Amino acid sequence: MNPRRRTFLKQLAAGVAATSLSPLSTRLHAAHHASQKKLGVALVGLGGYATRQLAPALQKTSRCSLRGIVTGTKKKEKIWADKYGVDTSHIYNYETFDSIANDPAIDIVYVVLPNSMHKEYVIRAAQAGKHVITEKPMGLNAAECREMIAACKAAGVKLSVGYRLRFEPNTMLIEKAGREKTMGAVRYVQSEMGFRIGDPAQWRLRHSLAGGGAMMDVGIYAIQGARYSTSEEPVSVRAQEFKTDPVKFAEVDETITWQMKFPSGAISNSTTSYSFGVNELTVSYERGRAGLRPANRYTGVAGYLGNEVLAAAPISQQALQMDDFARCISEDDTSKISGEEGLKDALVIEAIYESLRRGGTSVAV
Ligand code: NDP
Repeated sequence: MNPRRRTFLKQLAAGVAATSLSPLSTRLHAAHHASQKKLGVALVGLGGYATRQLAPALQKTSRCSLRGIVTGTKKKEKIWADKYGVDTSHIYNYETFDSIANDPAIDIVYVVLPNSMHKEYVIRAAQAGKHVITEKPMGLNAAECREMIAACKAAGVKLSVGYRLRFEPNTMLIEKAGREKTMGAVRYVQSEMGFRIGDPAQWRLRHSLAGGGAMMDVGIYAIQGARYSTSEEPVSVRAQEFKTDPVKFAEVDETITWQMKFPSGAISNSTTSYSFGVNELTVSYERGRAGLRPANRYTGVAGYLGNEVLAAAPISQQALQMDDFARCISEDDTSKISGEEGLKDALVIEAIYESLRRGGTSVAV
């Protein structure tokens, strides 16, 4: 076992032992203190991601607790109230949402709506005086992202984007290797993310709600992969589009490949698709390589860094993500997945679509 991992496991074991040996009264006091300090989160839009990932992750957070919901579906109110003990005084719909301003139990509003609705609810949450997390993609374009950043700044609230992977330990090691150049400069990144999309009637295939197809939805993971691996911002991009089902993908992109150039001379090659599965990251440094497969799943992110095997870490990415945002609020720190980070991806996506419009020519980011 490598020495760093051995030390980490030792520290972890010591921490667990200390907790289990401390007197009950001390532990109860600590638990009470922690629950007092927990920040209240309201989830907006109780769809698949909120239901299957965020609500369960909120049961594992140490600095946040699920206190409110905002839903347009009446029957979900009772289901969530029963399951998570959400008090009726913290249940809102899209019409009553703004009165959340008068609800001191809610500190953070987490927007988990279709992409085209992010901007409106981020701005309304900020105007209600709440800190905000919005799901990816932050907005439909860079202008929307800038509006959201400005609204949060004007309201004096913090804003972050749901880039859960940035708290995944193996992903963070690859990010660190790029930043600290431990294996030399990054020369090449291959990052890919795609899946076979089902139901042809879903909002992800409607341009008005999704703003784009595979690129907006999961291509953004491949952009993140190239950006965090290099610790650089791309200067230019060239893109190519492929469509095998013009009926299903009449309004949005099905498959896009693109290449990016970075200021250091590093290059990246990426693919995103709604018609096949791909979920990998490979980084070539001056000395050695690193890789993650899968690179973007909720669990099981594993790979290698040089000669080191990166085993999957048993953590909740979303719990770590939300706890870090709560820490940023408590310590007045800026999140590493702030609105500005979401804006950077939006600028890359705009350049990719622009390159496609111009027949695949190189476009400055
Ligand atoms: P779903 O379609 O499962 O849920 C969206 C929810 O939004 C609905 O259940 C509904 O909730 C509400 N809603 C309000 N208006 C509409 C509308 N016009 N059409 C559809 N739904 C509406 O989507 P997901 O949960 O998969 O995705 C939500 C957001 O989260 C997206 O931006 C997506 O990109 C992001 N996401 C992020 C992931 C990540 O890993 N970070 C993973 C998956 C998604 P209600 O009935 O309560 O009103």
